Amino acid sequence: MNFVILTLFPDMISAMFGDGVLKKAIDKGKISVTPVNIRAFAEGKHQVTDDTPYGGGCGMVMKPEPITAAIRSVKAEFPDAYTILLTPQGRTFSQKTAEELLSYKTLVLVCGRYEGVDERIVEEWVDDEISIGDYVLTGGEPAAAVIVDAIARLRPGVLGGESSAKEDSFSDGLLEYPQYTRPRSFEGAGVPDILLSGDHAKIRRWRRESSLTRTLLKRPELLNDFALSKEDIEFLKRLRSRIEKIL
Ligand code: SAM
Repeated sequence: MNFVILTLFPDMISAMFGDGVLKKAIDKGKISVTPVNIRAFAEGKHQVTDDTPYGGGCGMVMKPEPITAAIRSVKAEFPDAYTILLTPQGRTFSQKTAEELLSYKTLVLVCGRYEGVDERIVEEWVDDEISIGDYVLTGGEPAAAVIVDAIARLRPGVLGGESSAKEDSFSDGLLEYPQYTRPRSFEGAGVPDILLSGDHAKIRRWRRESSLTRTLLKRPELLNDFALSKEDIEFLKRLRSRIEKIL
């Protein structure tokens, strides 16, 4: 899967993928992450990429010509690329969005700066507008990195055999159960006995119930969209009656 990131700060993108699991995935050819410098497509001696807004007001707006030329050049290589503009006005990114975008072979992520990009870019070139949350960043680069990371780790072979994305929070609709590792006793705090029992059926059940409890306590709204099994419902009823007794 190819991620092409249009940016005024390509070094930011290179730095974000210069270490860790995703660097390994890039080195092994499982994914490619290519920063494309929008400024390289700007004409003139000063290669200007922004200008003042029509109608007045503060800040600068990213000019349409360099972004258009950059997108055209990427599309020449990847005609089926799906183009996403990072913007706080877009639909909010989630695990579901990551899973949905996994089906594209090439994603082009356009990072805005200043007051954003000229609207004609959105009208002519953008297939999708995505926000990583209801707050405003100085630029789209951190948002692009979040999106690439969340999608890339779902690609087969990226995480390797040692960890699986399938049990992570949100992937099945619940938050993940608590995790423990050595030492068995740490500053007086132990590990739940069941995890040391070797009884895999019991461990599975404990993990499921821990996930349900955590989700109920931390993100109860997630349970609204989750298909609970009969066993889950029984567990939640027992949990509710225990909570009611305490309260
Ligand atoms: N004037 C714009 C507005 O009010 O919608 C905000 C521009 S912001 C200062 C500059 C750039 O950062 C945006 O063009 C976008 O690419 C990126 N950005 C800021 N917040 C973001 C968010 N929550 N999600 C994705 N991208 C964001």
